[in-house]
Amino acid sequence: MNIIFLGPPGAGKGTQAQRVCEELNIPQISTGDILRRAIKEETPVGLKAKAFVESGALVPDEILVEIIKDRLAQDDCSKGYILDGFPRTVPQAEALEKIAKIDVVVELAVDDEALIRRLSGRRVCLKCGATYHVSTLGDRTTCEKCGETLIQRKDDNPETVKNRLDVYHSQTAPLIAFYEGKGLLKTFDGMQDIDAVYASIMGTLRALA
Ligand code: ADP
Ligand code: ADP
Ligand code: ZN
Repeated sequence: MNIIFLGPPGAGKGTQAQRVCEELNIPQISTGDILRRAIKEETPVGLKAKAFVESGALVPDEILVEIIKDRLAQDDCSKGYILDGFPRTVPQAEALEKIAKIDVVVELAVDDEALIRRLSGRRVCLKCGATYHVSTLGDRTTCEKCGETLIQRKDDNPETVKNRLDVYHSQTAPLIAFYEGKGLLKTFDGMQDIDAVYASIMGTLRALA
């Protein structure tokens, strides 16, 4: 199954996508993770993307479409995948239609106040992409899955978070109507706890399979 996870920053896309991918044994394609790695390694894409990512703006569509084209052409995508963080604009969604057949769009709905709480306490593992929250980490400073030291993302500061929420509402939220019009949209209440959200998503995906 080819799945898109759609929702504002902090909605739980990465958290849920990682679990669903493990369960279904398909790759999680997180464009945020791909860009952060490219920035860290100072690749040509990373150098172009850095200023956009750090200010909370979107990286230009051409760059993202190129990244996704290359990634979807890899062998491990043949049995399905989750796109986590792509598409984020209508032009990206239109470009995707030319290279992939999407089966379902999982939308996570969460209100802005909760998003700000979640993003300000988020800790991430840059090595494997796992996501945590300070409220449940205790004194743990390393990744449970791979042992890497956890970090706070530079763009998870209050000022940049505000930009990212504005960008979401103006540039990404139109995709909700776009996919609803194609009959692909399934909306979930992302305000529930992590296990409850996961159970609803899996219930829907199993019914579709
Ligand atoms: P996204 O990928 O949509 O930006 P993440 O999966 O990184 O969101 O989650 C953002 C933050 O919120 C993380 O700190 C994560 O641990 C926490 N989180 C995720 N889902 C929930 C949930 N259902 N309830 C409370 N906190 C959550
Ligand atoms: P979040 O988990 O908060 O939703 P991501 O990790 O998905 O954020 O993305 C982080 C940043 O990477 C975005 O703010 C943006 O600058 C860039 N980015 C990621 N995916 C895309 C995309 N599809 N189009 C443009 N920019 C993107
Ligand atoms: Zn890790």
